[in-house]
Amino acid sequence: MKLRHAIVIGAGIGGMCAARVLSDRFERVTLIERDELAAAPMHRKGVPQSRHPHGLLDRGRRELNLLFPGLDDNLRARGGLDFDAGLDLATLQPDGWARRRRTRHLMLFASRLLIEAVIRDRVKAIPNVRFVEATEVAQLTFAAGDSPRVTGVDTRQVADNAPGHLDADLIVDCSGRGSRATRWLEQAGFAAVETEIVDADAGYSTCWYQAPPAEARPASWWWKGVFLNPAARPERPEDYYFALTLPIEGDRFLLTLASWGGRELPADHESFAALCAKLRSPIVAEALAIAKPTSAIYHRRGMQNVWKHFERGAHPAGFVCLADAVCAFNPIYAQGMTSAAVCAEILGIVSAEHDPADPAFPGHFYRRQAEFVRQPWALSIARDRQALENGVGDARPEGEISGQMWERIMREGAGVPAIAEAIFDVINLNRPPESLMQDKAFLAAATEILQRPPRPIPAASDIPPYPPDQIAN
Ligand SMILES: Cc1cc2nc3c(=O)[nH]c(=O)nc-3n(C[C@H](O)[C@H](O)[C@H](O)COP(=O)(O)OP(=O)(O)OC[C@H]3O[C@@H](n4cnc5c(N)ncnc54)[C@H](O)[C@@H]3O)c2cc1C
Repeated sequence: MKLRHAIVIGAGIGGMCAARVLSDRFERVTLIERDELAAAPMHRKGVPQSRHPHGLLDRGRRELNLLFPGLDDNLRARGGLDFDAGLDLATLQPDGWARRRRTRHLMLFASRLLIEAVIRDRVKAIPNVRFVEATEVAQLTFAAGDSPRVTGVDTRQVADNAPGHLDADLIVDCSGRGSRATRWLEQAGFAAVETEIVDADAGYSTCWYQAPPAEARPASWWWKGVFLNPAARPERPEDYYFALTLPIEGDRFLLTLASWGGRELPADHESFAALCAKLRSPIVAEALAIAKPTSAIYHRRGMQNVWKHFERGAHPAGFVCLADAVCAFNPIYAQGMTSAAVCAEILGIVSAEHDPADPAFPGHFYRRQAEFVRQPWALSIARDRQALENGVGDARPEGEISGQMWERIMREGAGVPAIAEAIFDVINLNRPPESLMQDKAFLAAATEILQRPPRPIPAASDIPPYPPDQIAN
């Protein structure tokens, strides 16, 4: 039997995926969004991150296609691009260029704007989902009496502050990194939710470009994207920066300069171009010289890893939090949308197994969500802590994966198929990192690397400026 009404707070990726799974279980789903949602892909206040690249991991692409069959085709039809990261991305690892190789996996690249708009069109077509736009959820309401239960939300229209109220059997908070759910719960007398923060003080500066026509590009431009990592042994301040160009719809690309440890990031076109000119390879600056910038330089900080451990406490019935509202990652690892889609799928599974109105439901859901979330969390914090060790800051490694071990296996094993394939799967969240410890082929290759003395790190002058175009497989 279907329950009557579910409310989802926030129509980002997590909220829309949650609405999709709840539409199977509830007669009606109301998706409440603070912003007005234009039909065309447009930046909006509630999702400032849309100005920055949004890589969709292999797992995320597959999960979203399970939730919305044919989504890949919808994205391609509007300009989304297939992308084999091993083949199409010119990757300068800390100690040299990665060899080009075909992987078994295709990613799909598009702007966050387009990904969100295409998913929104699919959710809007679900008959029992209703969008309530330009309306903010201001507070939760609770049942009077002894049994703690969230019964609804108080709302406020953005245009004129007009108050409103909606009741529901289940309320799902998907209001993102800035969620106020823990505050709402505390104000109602519930214990504070234990919160873990790992802050590598990372930042992004991003600019959008119209790509030049193919015939205007130099011969070295075989790539669809470029990923320059910080140097293994930085010799100049610029060696600490990432540069990432990713193609998006409309023959455009985004270029992001990023760094950890609070390093200064360019905020205008001149300083942006100046940093690009000093990166570890000239290909980025050469591309910029013939591409047309179409945006300002967008600058972003506040990208710490934050995990609110709802699974550790007791919570009122009728309310759960999902996606960034529970666990937000340093976005450099591109895990957020994938994690949101998987968490929504878990919500669908748990709500099929347990009555969502039951007081035990939040506990079941939070435990299952945490089992998954610990996988991207472990990857993200291990690499952030390791980056801080190499650069600035005084974070101490204590995650499940040793950052140094990862670094060596990835650096020295990048050309070894058993390692490259396994690591690709872990990074794409197709398998948990601990599964590597049962993978005989991976273990044999990794052990060989770890048992020999570390391979010397080449001097910057020994690394060729341009990526190889030969394909290894
Ligand atoms: C700079 C940056 C780059 C990123 N790059 C990537 C990437 O490459 N790949 C990737 O997978 N992920 C990336 N992410 C993460 C990704 O954006 C999120 O993880 C993903 O969108 C899932 O978030 P969400 O749905 O939980 O929240 P969001 O997408 O942030 O959506 C939250 C929604 O809630 C609404 N809202 C907030 N409060 C209220 C309220 N009180 N009432 C009503 N509505 C409300 C907001 O307006 C918004 O629409 C990046 C994030 C940042 C910051």
